Formats: sequence, structure tokens, C-alpha cells
Amino acid sequence: MSHQISVMVHTPAHSGIGGALTYESDTAQAPGTLVRVPLGSRELLGVVWSGHHPEPAEAMQLRAIASVLAGVPPLSANWRQLVQFAAHYYQRSAGEVALAALPSQLRDLNAEQWARRLKRKPKVSASFEGAAQHIPTPTDEQAQVLADIAANEGPFLLFGNTGSGKTEVYLRAAQSVLEQNSQAQILVMVPEINLTPQLEERFRARFAPQWGADCLVAMHSSLTPAQRLKNWLAAHSGEARIVLGTRMAVFASMPHLQLIVVDEEHDPSYKQQEGARYSARDLAVYRGQLEGAKVILGSATPSLESWHHSRPATASEPAGRYMRLAMPSRVGQGALPLVRRVDMNRQPYKTVFSNHLLDAMRERVTRGEQILVLLNRRGYAPVLHCNDCGWKSECPHCSAYRVFHKLDRTLRCHHCGFTQPVPRACPSCGNLDISPLGRGTEQLEEHLAELLADVRRSDGEHIRIARIDADSTRLKGELERQLAEVHAGAVDVLVGTQMIAKGHDFRRVTLVAALNTDGALFSSDFRAPERLFSLLMQAAGRAGRDANMSLVSPCEMWVQSHHPLHPLFEALKQHDYPAFAEQQLREREQATLPPFSFQALVRAEARSQEAAQGFLNAARDAGAALADELLVDLYPAVPMTIQRVANIERAQMLIECTSRKALQHFLANWQADLHAMRSTHRQVIRWAVDVDPLAI
Ligand code: ADP
Ligand code: ZN
Ligand code: ZN
Repeated sequence: MSHQISVMVHTPAHSGIGGALTYESDTAQAPGTLVRVPLGSRELLGVVWSGHHPEPAEAMQLRAIASVLAGVPPLSANWRQLVQFAAHYYQRSAGEVALAALPSQLRDLNAEQWARRLKRKPKVSASFEGAAQHIPTPTDEQAQVLADIAANEGPFLLFGNTGSGKTEVYLRAAQSVLEQNSQAQILVMVPEINLTPQLEERFRARFAPQWGADCLVAMHSSLTPAQRLKNWLAAHSGEARIVLGTRMAVFASMPHLQLIVVDEEHDPSYKQQEGARYSARDLAVYRGQLEGAKVILGSATPSLESWHHSRPATASEPAGRYMRLAMPSRVGQGALPLVRRVDMNRQPYKTVFSNHLLDAMRERVTRGEQILVLLNRRGYAPVLHCNDCGWKSECPHCSAYRVFHKLDRTLRCHHCGFTQPVPRACPSCGNLDISPLGRGTEQLEEHLAELLADVRRSDGEHIRIARIDADSTRLKGELERQLAEVHAGAVDVLVGTQMIAKGHDFRRVTLVAALNTDGALFSSDFRAPERLFSLLMQAAGRAGRDANMSLVSPCEMWVQSHHPLHPLFEALKQHDYPAFAEQQLREREQATLPPFSFQALVRAEARSQEAAQGFLNAARDAGAALADELLVDLYPAVPMTIQRVANIERAQMLIECTSRKALQHFLANWQADLHAMRSTHRQVIRWAVDVDPLAI
């Protein structure tokens, strides 16, 4: 007898339909089974689905599935539900989400290669050779938090200062889950794995002695396809007890998932920026609930959403749905840095480093201490400019300037990648006097070398200045190498973008300086202050991690600003995240912004701005009646901040509603209109919906 089965495949064209196609099979296939199916002249990987039945097969002859992928147990019902939910919530097809979540080799290996891959014997697990690790006794705060996690359901927001020992809490929570259940699995997510190479080491060193070197696998985009398949299979089979990964790991198949940790939960890199634009943090909370796994979101500067969700009950209102756990103290005596603000209005025009700051830097370097200088702009100068005619280094393909990179003397567009050698003379008037405007990390590094040229280290050597940003770390392994140098003390002053502010444990840093932060104070993006505050708090957290060092030399964070009395800096000075959060949340509530409302964006790209906006405005008209009914606000289409990239015009339209449910309902019903409009707006190259967008 033949069976009709519905199979989820990646067919973007079907995104309005859901991605399930009907095939015939001689034998029944369990839902979740991986199969290969013919589509047109191609053969695709698919997942046997269930739940909704496909459209009744018409008289049309159904095609048979080509093969079943041997040796892979079916994906669980929970996994399929997670995919289904994510697809629905983020307005994509389930087939796209499902297939994107599977390692590419499952798709790319043909039957013969797959058979060979299966025959490969797993290597006998290497015995773990690391040194026996000293496991610290929990502090009182850690013990309290662990007891709360054990006694409650969660989800938990672990609000722990930088250096308060959050990682130790994750390790202990993981340990007790592993001990209680011989199959239990744990998912640990981090924003960017190469920025925190120590974390993987800490987990491995803690768990490998008892559970073997293979108990932990990594999942992130810099693995080779073969590694990714291997690790995915280890998690899927249940052999790997711990998966440590970036946002993509939220879709890891883990049949016995019991605990999910989202470290630095506020980090924007948890939001996927293409395809299904999911928030891995939000999906982690959903998945935890679905699988009955506990969820711990950890941060020293939580996202305002999570902070709001974890609000305690008041006389008039019940508590939020997360449980907030606090660890305010740093482990040991390591004090938080004293924040010093420099009023740049009182400095001579064009001052880069105030004299006070320079003196402080000189003094510390001479004593053998390390310094971080944070500037969130890479390259030498953001624009090159002609003093005669006013020419600027615009990108011919984008509405943006090309950045001057001095090292290879190029003008490089950071949006489309267009790169040219720096012209000898002004392309517009021939003037030879063209000069950089503004300053990036590359120039800052050069400038500092001049300013500190006469300073010697305690050993009499010249001081060493290094730079870490997306340019200096382009080559594989460079970032790790550079970080190791800083750790080893070979670098005295480290200049860099936000990459240097993340979870590194730089022991000898006693001074952090932040330059040019004012832009974020008055940005049109309502999340800019939140991002700046967390960046500065994280950066401040790099200083004073070594208690012995702080005793000798109290650490400092310097902020140079034209608005030193801004409330954001006041809160920073007090290291008072709650005060900052309360103030921001009040503003957001008054303006009915997230988390007091819910947003989605539709973005459209076309050869002309009129075409892009025309599509969006037509979509707005099509959805107007339903939006009215559901109290959803549809704003008019506007050009995006960077309106043109690589000769493509971009426009967007904001959708807002105070009810998440109503917004979801609207989006789900409006999809069909959007899809249908493709045929009447042929100039639109692509469009996409972004639910809970992070940047507007
Ligand atoms: P966070 O993740 O909150 O920044 P970590 O977990 O990295 O903090 O801890 C900061 C430092 O304190 C680390 O060097 C860690 O080994 C140490 N530490 C953490 N918990 C304890 C403890 N209970 N006793 C002693 N040292 C600890
Ligand atoms: Zn000119
Ligand atoms: Zn460009």
C-alpha cells in the first residue's frame, strides 16, 4: 500500500503556503524523518512533517520520495514545533526555517557519500588531558541564585555585575542538571564565540574530566561543514551533553534538553539579520517552555525588554513573567572603576585626548598597567574631503561615504564593499590638498603612537600599541592571536571598536577610555542609548578584574563627552543599571515604544525609491481595513537611513501595535496581500518582514 506524506522542503516561492509538499511512499514514515524528494529536476532534502494535512491531492500523480536518510533518528515533535512557531512568528516558511537549521552536509552529500560518512567509526574518545581544575566554593550571592534556580520554574534573568561570577553560576547549574539525569542535555548560547574563546575552555575543563572530552560540542558559523555535521549528529543522538553555540544553536536538535543558558542576553547579535529574522534569545525562552527546560538569561546590562519582563510585583500590578535574580557584587575585592567624565566643551578645538587623560595613561603604562581605548569607528577616517571644492569620498553606489583606510591607501565602502585606491588629487577639481575628516581606530592608533612616543614601560622598552577591529582581524585566527597577546601582557595600549569591550578577562587593565560616544545620545534610533550604556558598562567591566592590582592602583573609566551631565553618564558613574533602565523605560512608556508596544518592519528594495515606497504604500492600503479593526498602526513608507546600497534603493514601513497577539494576527493575514502584490509591483527586487526589529 502506498502512503501520502507531507514533506517540508525549502521552497522560498512557497513561503506564503508553508513549504510542505505531498509525496508518495511505499512505507509509512515517522514524522521528523529526513528524506530526499524530487522537485522539478532536482532532489531536495526534506523533513517528514505532520500535524496539518496537506491539500487534498488532486488527480495529479504524486511523485515518490527518492530515499530516506539512513542512520539519522527522526527529529522530535518539539523540534518541529519550534520550527513551526519560529516560521509563523517571523513570517517565513517552515520549510525555510527547518532546512536552514540543519547542517548543510545533510543536504549536500549524495547517497553514496552519505553511506561512507555513516560507516566512519567514531574515534575513540580522547581522554581528557587538562589539569584537574580547582572548583571554587560559591559565594553567598551565587549560592542564593543557584538555590532560586533549583526551586523555581523560571525563566530567570540573572542580573549579575561584570565579574560577579555569572559563568560560575552557569557551570554549577549545568553540573547539577548533568548529575540529576544521565541523559540531560544543556544548551549554552553566547553572542560571538570567537570573542569569548575562554568560555569554551572553562566549560570543557569543568566537565571533560567527569563526562569525557566529547561531552561538549560547539555550534557556530566558523566551523567547517564537516565539523558542523559531526557536532550536529552528536547533539541529535544525545551523545553530546552540552552544546555551546551562537544564535544558530537555538535550533540544535537536542532530544533531552533540560537547561538553556543565554549569556549576555542583551547582545544584538542574537538577532538574525537575514532570512528568518529570529531572536535566538526570545526563541530560547519559547523553547524552554516547550521542552520543559529551565532558561537562564544572563547579563550585567539586560535588554530593557528582559528587564521589564522581570519586574517585581507592585501594589497594583503583578510581577513580570521572568524571575529576576541579582548578583551585585564582584567576586573578591575587584572594585568597579571610578568613572571620570571629561567635558570636551572646555578642551581646545579638535582635542582627541584631553591632557588629563593622557597624563593618566602615561602614568599607568609606566607602572606596567594596561589601557583600553574604545572608539566605535574603524578605518582611518570616515571620509576624505577636498578643502577647495568640498568634494567628499561618497560611494558611487550607496548613499554613504567611503572610509579612508590608510594602511593600503584605499577608499572602502563599508556597505557595498566598493574599494578604490585613494586618488592623488581631488577627482572633482584636481586640487592636491585632500584630507581626512573625522577619525577612526586606525588613525587613533597612529596618533597615540606619536603622543606616547616618549613613554617607556617599566622594563625600559618602548610601549606597545595594538588595534583590534574588523579590519585587523579579517584573517582567520588573527583575533585569537591578538587577544592572546593582550592577555600575555605584550600589549600596553589596546585601541579598538566594541569588539574589545565584550567578555574578555583582561587581568591587567586598569584604565578604559571611551571616545566620541555622543552620537548615540541623540540618535533617531530609540535603542541607541541602551546600546551605548551597555557598551560602556561592559567596557568598564574589563577594568579592575584583578583584585590585587586594584588595591595598588584603583582603576578608572574615562568618558570624553560634550554632554558630560547627560543622565546616561550619571547612571554610568554610579554603575547604576537599574536607574538607567527605569529612566529609559519611563520614556519608552510615554512614547509607547517597545516593550510597551510591539513592532514589525517591512523593507522593500527596488531600482528606484518610488518603486520601493510604492510597493509598501500599496501594501499599506491593502492592509488598512484589517489594521483598523485590530488597532494596528501602519506608518507611511520612508527611505531607510542608508537609502541606497550597491545601487539598490531601500525603503521601509513601520507597523506598531500594543498587542503582540493582534500584531501577529495582522501579519499572518496580511502576508497573502504582500505575496499577491509581487505581480503588480515587478520592479521590487525583494521585500522582507522583520518582526521585533532591533534597528529602525
Ligand atoms: P562574570 O561571568 O559574571 O563576568 P566570572 O564567572 O567570569 O564572572 O567570574 C569572574 C572571576 O571570578 C573569574 O576569574 C572566576 O574564576 C572567579 N570566580 C567566580 N566565582 C568564584 C567563586 N565562587 N570563588 C572564587 N572565584 C570565583
Ligand atoms: Zn576639489
Ligand atoms: Zn557602497
